[in-house]
Amino acid sequence: MNTPLFSLEGRTALVTGSSRGLGLAIARGLAEAGASVVLNGVNEARLEETAAALRGQGVDVGTAAFDVTDEAAVVSAFERLDAAGKEIGILVNNAGIQYRKPIVELDSANWQRVIDTNLTSAFLVSREAAKRMLPRKRGKVINIGSLMSGLGRATVAPYTAAKGGIKTLTQAMAAEWAEHGVQANAIGPGYMLTDMNQALIDNPEFDSWVKGRTPSRRWGKPEELIGAAVFLAADASNYVNGQIIYVDGGMSAVI
Ligand code: NDP
Repeated sequence: MNTPLFSLEGRTALVTGSSRGLGLAIARGLAEAGASVVLNGVNEARLEETAAALRGQGVDVGTAAFDVTDEAAVVSAFERLDAAGKEIGILVNNAGIQYRKPIVELDSANWQRVIDTNLTSAFLVSREAAKRMLPRKRGKVINIGSLMSGLGRATVAPYTAAKGGIKTLTQAMAAEWAEHGVQANAIGPGYMLTDMNQALIDNPEFDSWVKGRTPSRRWGKPEELIGAAVFLAADASNYVNGQIIYVDGGMSAVI
């Protein structure tokens, strides 16, 4: 793995929402490629427990607990990282939530909560990261979109709106930053085995729908995002800008 093109030696990566699920798998993968990683989440106890487990496995890991929807908390988290000498060269905007309701039953508070956590957060955290990356003329921003960055589905309107926004926000970031050496790309996972989907995984009807519609005929495993994440974080992708790589067992190709 550690050929120069794919090596992350000497880089520090901040992965939001990495106390569990896809973010944790991505953080682990970036660390395996040589990066020092900073984990993030809101639940401090869970975050520290995850970090301690990784340290026990010899992973170079720090933590930054903050709510990605809280502008002041994001700004001060970056100030603390600066003070600790952590130069974030790779940012993965992964924190996100799901909320299922038909549009006519959806209240505006939950609409806003999903938009804030899945979309506005990427703006807030990337802005702080980019302020530091642009003067250095080097940096990689990876936004976690979804299969739903390219299509809408019933009962998840704010989620699909946010993930669609992630795709075009990534393009806007690339348009502004590529010439300054900072790249922005996205990953669009399909249906993955994480806490977020536990109720769906446990629902036999939904489980067989996913298996029936996914060309790979199965759910994705969190670690299956690592290849795309390391590629987009490493020099191997230096001329790739504003793209979304779907890691979805082929679902977006056929649905
Ligand atoms: P999980 O629910 O398993 O984990 C969510 C993570 O995000 C946790 O670490 C959680 O921290 C953190 N988080 C949630 N809200 C905040 C917040 N306000 N501030 C900081 N951290 C927060 O989700 P997944 O791993 O399944 O999903 C990760 C990302 O991947 C999301 O953006 C999701 O939309 C996207 N995705 C997931 C798919 C899937 O099938 N699972 C498919 C496509 C995209 P804490 O532990 O503190 O709560």
